[in-house]
Amino acid sequence: MRVLSGIQPTGRPHWGNFFGAIRQYIDLQDDNDGFYFIADMHALTTVRDAAALKQYTLDAALDLMALGLDPKKATLFVQSQVPEVSELTWLLMTGTPMGLLERCHAYKDKKEKGLNADAGLFTYPVLMAADILIYDSEVVPVGQDQIQHIEVARDLAGSFNHTFGETFKLPKAKTLDHSAKVPGTDGEKMSKSYNNTLPLFGNVKQIRKQIMRITTDSRAMEDPKEPEGDHLFQLYRLFASPEDVETMAAMYRRGGFGYGDVKKAVAEASETYFAEARARREELEANLDYVHETLRDGAARAREVAADVLLRAQKACGLR
Ligand code: ATP
Ligand code: MG
Repeated sequence: MRVLSGIQPTGRPHWGNFFGAIRQYIDLQDDNDGFYFIADMHALTTVRDAAALKQYTLDAALDLMALGLDPKKATLFVQSQVPEVSELTWLLMTGTPMGLLERCHAYKDKKEKGLNADAGLFTYPVLMAADILIYDSEVVPVGQDQIQHIEVARDLAGSFNHTFGETFKLPKAKTLDHSAKVPGTDGEKMSKSYNNTLPLFGNVKQIRKQIMRITTDSRAMEDPKEPEGDHLFQLYRLFASPEDVETMAAMYRRGGFGYGDVKKAVAEASETYFAEARARREELEANLDYVHETLRDGAARAREVAADVLLRAQKACGLR
């Protein structure tokens, strides 16, 4: 099955990216034809600094490979290396109702937070639809925030097929139960653009400090608490075994514990969990030629598929 997903090079990847999306890439790479890309054209809607964008793009490749994405099993590439995507975006744009885009949460949320809303951000779901449809993708592993955008891709594919005849496969989103929306240090969705992230890589001491700053409610420590609604508990659950999660849940319900202890447990568990990936990242950093070569090969493979599907779409709508 063709599985596809992308990550934006907009800053350091975080626990939400890993537990919501990247972990799925790795789980799915053995038995599927995985296409995973670094969405540098999407990132242009937020990163307006050429050197930074280039660095983040390379970093994202290192991050994914360090976390276990295996170029022998899956195709890893950079979005802008497949120019066919931009061509397909235009074809899809011509059939996209404005109202559909106006209803998209990512745009609405960013706008409400006072972030720049340009035409690129507004039409972002159409570029994303092209990203998905151009590889005949069937399954798209993502976090909850992307479900709506995948619905848009389905809608656009369906209406194109309806108008011009069967052209595109209809993709489906795939999310994980407990980690489709990982909370950030403030309890909101963890997001690179909301400044509430816990990064996967970087200075361990600094990350520990960030963990200790996770907001907690102000109720007395002795009060029993319902674990499910607590974002610190949700973060703990990402790393702990089912038995440890049960023990922690019981502790919450009993009350009389300190949030500081939970934070320490989260810090320790996360350090152990990512230790191997950290070591692998350092090895990759010393071997950048291999990383560049991987991205070059990946783009060549992706372009072959993309060119076929683009041609199919162009023929269908009378451009060829
Ligand atoms: P930005 O704020 O720039 O949009 P982001 O933190 O949302 O960045 P993306 O690169 O947009 O990260 O998302 C990459 C993948 O990670 C997507 O599949 C997205 O659904 C998933 N993801 C992002 N944040 C979370 C989260 N908090 N919980 C679960 N999955 C997430
Ligand atoms: Mg995002």
